Amino acid sequence: MKTLFSLIVARPLIAIALAVVVVAVLYLGFTHRQTTPVTHRTEHVRLTDKEQMELGSQEYAKTLRQYRRRIVSSGAAYAEVQRVAKRIEAVAGRDKPGFVWRVTLLRKNVANAYCLPGGKIVVYTGILPLTRSDAGLATVLGHEVAHATAEHAAERMEREHLTKIAAAIIAGGVAFTPSQYVHVLAALGVAGAAASLPFSRAQESEADHIGLVYMARAGYDPRQAKAFWKRMLRASKGKEPPEFASDHPSDKHRVERIAEWLPEAEREYKP
Ligand SMILES: [Zn+2]
Repeated sequence: MKTLFSLIVARPLIAIALAVVVVAVLYLGFTHRQTTPVTHRTEHVRLTDKEQMELGSQEYAKTLRQYRRRIVSSGAAYAEVQRVAKRIEAVAGRDKPGFVWRVTLLRKNVANAYCLPGGKIVVYTGILPLTRSDAGLATVLGHEVAHATAEHAAERMEREHLTKIAAAIIAGGVAFTPSQYVHVLAALGVAGAAASLPFSRAQESEADHIGLVYMARAGYDPRQAKAFWKRMLRASKGKEPPEFASDHPSDKHRVERIAEWLPEAEREYKP
């Protein structure tokens, strides 16, 4: 009886200890240390710059094939996107000389834009009514490009990978039958997803900070960023919030934090 009791109590504890050791070994042994630009935060990622480039390039090629007929290759909107992206890329390139930057404008009535790992940018025409000016577009591109230079995707992938391994080990220590194992694993998955929410918010905030400094370094007035996020805030309250808002919850708090970083960005701003 006593052995059974200690088995029930000890197994999960041993599993948790084992999970900690395995994750620590993988984290410290198989990743490299990296410092984010502007915010100087230390992060651990496994993918090298080259691997991130390959990953992003494959995804980019797939998107361009899929939306071949929607690629915009002339006109005022095309020229604006190329013009602003070139200046932001030049700034971001100083932090990531190994990345190869490209931007594509797609005719799509969706307010969104993103930058893939390694520097491939996609902008939808639907975001242009929100950005309104070169400085507004520089706010969006600065933010998106910051996700790439701060290697946020690689960091997220590493985190998900380690969380899965830890969950598998812990579930093995808690469950006594295969069906219990599946249930415990699912529950840990839900808990893991909830725990990653503050993490992705922190990445968003960091991209805001780096992006603000990038746009200033590229010669765009960083005060215009506040105006853009305020427009986003208003648009998000409409019947159909912009898709950009699903990844970038534009709350009041965001505008306030941008105001805090503004003096730093303004020091780097040369019109
Ligand atoms: Zn973002």
